[in-house]
Amino acid sequence: MTEPHAALDNLSTENRKFPPSDEFAAQANATAALYEEADADREAFWAEQAERLSWDAKWTQVLDWSNAPFAKWFVGGRLNVAYNCVDRHVESGHGEQVAIHWEGEPGDSRTITYADLQREVSKAANALVELGVGAEDRVAIYMPMVPEAIFSMLACARLGALHSVVFGGFSAEALRTRIEDSRAKLVITTDGQYRRGKSAALKPAVDEAVAKAGSVEHVLVVKRTNSDVEWTEGRDVWWHDLVDRQSEQHTPEAFDSEHPLFILYTSGTTGNPKGILHTSGGYLTQASYTHHAVFDLKPDTDVYWCTADIGWVTGHSYIVYGPLSNRVTQVVYEGTPDTPDKGRHWQIVQKYGVSIYYTAPTLIRTFMKWGADIPAGYDLSSLRVLGSVGEPINPEAWIWYRETIGAGKTPVVDTWWQTETGAIMISPLPGATAAKPGSAQRPLPGIGAKVVDDQGNEVPHGGGGYLVLDEPWPAMLRGIWGDEQRYRDTYWSRFGEQGYYFAGDGAKYDADGDIWLLGRVDDVMNVSGHRISTTEVESALVSHPTVAEAAVVGATDATTGQGIVAFVILRGGVAEGSDGAEAIKALRDHVAKEIGPIAKPRQIMVVPELPKTRSGKIMRRLLRDVAENRQVGDVTTLADSSVMDLISQGLKTGSP
Ligand code: ATP
Ligand code: MG
Repeated sequence: MTEPHAALDNLSTENRKFPPSDEFAAQANATAALYEEADADREAFWAEQAERLSWDAKWTQVLDWSNAPFAKWFVGGRLNVAYNCVDRHVESGHGEQVAIHWEGEPGDSRTITYADLQREVSKAANALVELGVGAEDRVAIYMPMVPEAIFSMLACARLGALHSVVFGGFSAEALRTRIEDSRAKLVITTDGQYRRGKSAALKPAVDEAVAKAGSVEHVLVVKRTNSDVEWTEGRDVWWHDLVDRQSEQHTPEAFDSEHPLFILYTSGTTGNPKGILHTSGGYLTQASYTHHAVFDLKPDTDVYWCTADIGWVTGHSYIVYGPLSNRVTQVVYEGTPDTPDKGRHWQIVQKYGVSIYYTAPTLIRTFMKWGADIPAGYDLSSLRVLGSVGEPINPEAWIWYRETIGAGKTPVVDTWWQTETGAIMISPLPGATAAKPGSAQRPLPGIGAKVVDDQGNEVPHGGGGYLVLDEPWPAMLRGIWGDEQRYRDTYWSRFGEQGYYFAGDGAKYDADGDIWLLGRVDDVMNVSGHRISTTEVESALVSHPTVAEAAVVGATDATTGQGIVAFVILRGGVAEGSDGAEAIKALRDHVAKEIGPIAKPRQIMVVPELPKTRSGKIMRRLLRDVAENRQVGDVTTLADSSVMDLISQGLKTGSP
């Protein structure tokens, strides 16, 4: 039974296991031997992974942790990150290999080889130099998923300038605060962007942001939608005027392994975004190694597709740096999954023969809601590895993903990591791990992670608590931009005595010692002394056939401390002429049966939508405001702010 004082109760068990086929295991990039190798000598293991890259000067020390929590990896080493992602593949004879199959939302497409990429990145780098950008300058990139966004990131890396990519769906205000915080001198943007079949202006948001933020000297504008734009002479420059006339030659300079590479603000799920700083050698080493090991990439035969936006860390590490350093052939798609229709992703998989597909649970649940007959209309037989990132994946969504998209045979890798970690930390190895639906399972070879209690002691198998990282890792953040104290406070003070990095996520071990991520520590509910995770209750709800999506929060309760309040989206909505009372009773009973009476929601509200960040994560703090009848808090990172109105209106009529 569960301990009433456990840091986090462990309520559910999952017994399904999916080992890789013999055939897959036999050809896998990563085998179980890697764990032993890394355990035997962690630093030697990472030094070996760093050999994946081309270095201009070799390091003299693998890790310097003497100034913890500020790490230095591959001390004294020198490299150019963009050279590693582009030029070296051309030099090794792969210039004609396709790097990017770019697919525009309206149906236009571009094929970019590594030789093309080298020319484009070199021209962009020369253009940036002409605009006065040099090493350590900051460049804000505010763009849709067009090839020039990737050229721009690599051009910055080539010059040793830091990029700060701001998601193209963010407001002028969000852009302004990020420009001001990083004091960017250049903004790269487009005139407009395609979203759901329509073009929307983008440059006006830049004009507004730049008018208030004083640091910006130039705005470089790619023409994408041909929309009218206001023009500030002397400041604004068209990409085609400036970049097209540049030389295709640019010699990359080697930078120190610890030279800053980029700043990226976190998604803002739990509050005010943090400007996370990443550097070069360690970051690229781990991005490259994890992409190779976790996705089993075979550069000569695979076609890889990560559906993230480059505005998120997943786009940085698993569209740009990891894949390109590994000489990937990948698909980059500009638009939304339901344009022109709900089969768009599967049509793209079929068109390019995508073999590795990496997406987020929110999209998988959306696909489930849309129905299995949509993917059934396409040939998905090229797929051989599926990945998930961003939130805990509910076991039922995992099973659906493997069965419906992966023909019941592809490994599914559930990858846990954060903007702060820079690269994947906890994940199955597709050729070595018997996968469990809903579990990220084990820290990757070379990575240290543990589940601990309030005192920082590791919990036994079957126990729940807090996820910590107990060893420095190469792609770790080197701080929060301009705020050393916030870095120490946020990540290193909670378990300061032990020297553990506090991830902010709840987790548990199952009986085998595999790790299950259970949502944010801030969201853990306390019901009659039981510490219950939102994830377990949500997964129980999603396992009921009528539920498409669920979000659970703890609301103050006079008798139990907190009561569980669930918000659910039903697959077919509430039946005509019914008040939904029966459906709700069935769901409460279902949760009690699946994980125990203590987890039975006090209240279940049927809603049309859930509040999500623009990266697709459920924002439970806003739902907690609703459940506790408070004014709804900061919604600036919400994808669609009208969702909260929809939910509140629905409640006036439907709540008990
Ligand atoms: P903020 O820190 O501003 O609140 P955020 O944490 O949402 O934003 P990200 O760095 O994009 O910003 O997200 C990392 C978080 O996403 C993790 O801490 C975890 O809560 C969640 N997450 C990512 N991948 C997984 C996964 N595979 N399983 C469970 N949770 C995951
Ligand atoms: Mg976070």
